[in-house]
Amino acid sequence: MDELLSGALSRLDEAAKHVEVDSEVLEKLKYAKETLSVRLSVRMDDGSRRSFPAWRCRYDDTRGPTKGGIRFHPSSNVEEVTTLAFWMTFKCAVMNLPYGGGKGAVKVDPHSLSKSELERLSRAYVQAFAGMIGPDRDIPAPDVYTNSMIMGWMADEYSSIVRQPSPAVITGKPLPLGGSLGRDDATARGGYYLIKHLEEDLGLAGSAKRVVVQGYGNAGFHIARLLHADGYRIVGISDSRGAIVCEDGLDPQAVQAAKERGGSVTAYAGNGVRKVSDDELLGTGCEILVPAALEDQIHKGNAGLIKARIVLELANGPVTPDADRILEEAGTIVLPDILANAGGVTVSYFEWVQNRQGYYWNLGEIHERLRVIMETEGRRVWDMRSAKGITMRTAAYAHALERLSKAIAAHGTQP
Ligand code: GLU
Repeated sequence: MDELLSGALSRLDEAAKHVEVDSEVLEKLKYAKETLSVRLSVRMDDGSRRSFPAWRCRYDDTRGPTKGGIRFHPSSNVEEVTTLAFWMTFKCAVMNLPYGGGKGAVKVDPHSLSKSELERLSRAYVQAFAGMIGPDRDIPAPDVYTNSMIMGWMADEYSSIVRQPSPAVITGKPLPLGGSLGRDDATARGGYYLIKHLEEDLGLAGSAKRVVVQGYGNAGFHIARLLHADGYRIVGISDSRGAIVCEDGLDPQAVQAAKERGGSVTAYAGNGVRKVSDDELLGTGCEILVPAALEDQIHKGNAGLIKARIVLELANGPVTPDADRILEEAGTIVLPDILANAGGVTVSYFEWVQNRQGYYWNLGEIHERLRVIMETEGRRVWDMRSAKGITMRTAAYAHALERLSKAIAAHGTQP
């Protein structure tokens, strides 16, 4: 079995030691319900055709329609999609959203496509998977290198296929097509509410507040912005092309502007700003490290460098099981992905609810509802961690597993 998926399943086994759960439940949660692999054939601007491997996995739908993003990335593969769908299953259960878990991907470097090629690819994806997705079946959303523009094309394509506007089939849409206020920064905002709520428990109240952010896409930029506005000092930022540090603190907006101009955060120049390697970035003195890029970034080879006391996982799966053990021994608290980055799918859920009601909420309502859910579930996981003397990750999985196991039992035992 693929290492990423076996690592994910090992977290499930660990959690199962701490809750009463039937072995049939564990058996069911070890396998994806359905996965479809296709090749998308797309006309390029120069008249040629290229074909791209693409997948959609519905991992488990016991608690409701499957939910999860679509990623466009050159190294996507079916094992990664399956693992991400597994994580979505547990994420939705941690947050008590009425969803199962799913995920999709296209193996492509989207930066190598023109805008019209990207649109044809996005529409081809929906044509291929139209029978699998649906507002009551499987609801995609953005993920790495996909955004609201792409979700808009996809929702439009689906609506053409079913011959009626069908906004609830996909979330993360542009506002004029039924998107929700607050979806853009929801992943980071959820993590921010979690940190604020647990500030005292985490020993952050009254301490120095230095932050390092790895990855400067949607999640990384917004967490830097939100924490900076709250008085935290952003002392390091990286993206796929390099890293910068500054002991006096970086201005997230200025770094973002430099990235837009120069293609990387390393284009940012200022007093005391130094370019560093990825390892140096991880080893930078700080209280909070925020991995906000891809999976497996913190592994046994570099986990020992980390000085942060708190790791806020805004990426999915950024810390390997080996690195988890190293961090635990060092006394570092990892706020796990299935809780820490769940703000994104939670506001996706709000978007879906609004689409179905045809009644739209204001930004204050979105923020307040998100805050309440993050705090309620964050507190439950924290309390379970304290009561059982386990890590936040194991507690989050155990909390989700209790919900999944009750739902599986409620479905009955036949056939
Ligand atoms: N791609 C995001 C995640 O990994 C959001 C999924 C969604 O909104 O459905 O949680």
